Amino acid sequence: MSKYDRVDKFELETMTKEEFEKKQGYVIKNCKCAQCPTYVEGDAPIGYCFPVIGTSKKIQWENKCICNTCPIYKEYELSHTFYCTRCSQSCQTIKSEAGASRE
Ligand code: SF4
Ligand code: SF4
Repeated sequence: MSKYDRVDKFELETMTKEEFEKKQGYVIKNCKCAQCPTYVEGDAPIGYCFPVIGTSKKIQWENKCICNTCPIYKEYELSHTFYCTRCSQSCQTIKSEAGASRE
């Protein structure tokens, strides 16, 4: 059983503004996206798995996703890929569950 909420992996619901900013900075600092073959030079901010960052304005083509080599991915038990083009961890979870419930 995971210690994290199924949708809110970063535990943002219960956070103060200061804690939120600190966690966002932590995610961006440890993010591996800038070393990824899909990444487009100069795109910022990275840390696309984090809910408020949003998808990339520059990345259009999915090549390879190296998120599963990232310490943030492991620490927060993330489960999706291509956050830069598909949306954040919580967004992809909600979308996949909404899709599954329509089947
Ligand atoms: S999991 Fe992916 S998007 Fe999130 S911080 Fe790591 S490399 Fe960046
Ligand atoms: S989210 Fe994945 S595919 Fe996109 S730049 Fe980061 S590591 Fe690469």
